[in-house]
Amino acid sequence: MLSDKNLRKSFERVKKDIIGLQNRILDSEKRYEDLWNIISSLMEKDIELSKDLEQTAAIASEKPKAPKSKKVTYVASKTAKKFHLLDCPFAKQILPNKKITFKSKDSAMNKGLKPCDCVKKY
Ligand SMILES: [Zn+2]
Repeated sequence: MLSDKNLRKSFERVKKDIIGLQNRILDSEKRYEDLWNIISSLMEKDIELSKDLEQTAAIASEKPKAPKSKKVTYVASKTAKKFHLLDCPFAKQILPNKKITFKSKDSAMNKGLKPCDCVKKY
């Protein structure tokens, strides 16, 4: 009788352990699922962020280009007969008080100036 009771008790204990283990497994599966959800949402955010980055990089690489090609200003000296691009070595030698700037080739040519070789290259 006594051993039967003991057996029953230990059986109950084992059963409890098994249920406990099952619960723990279910719990860790749930946690795994939660983690997976977090990871996949992070991955989605990462994709969105890299898209944003690409767009930002595209905008950043475009922006300086666009105004540059439009802004090309030409310079000439009041005493010379040729006009230059801003980065031409001749342009850099023009004294500030003798410098005239033009927004387009035409406006420089209208003043009777001729393009320097640096202008012809473009
Ligand atoms: Zn020049």
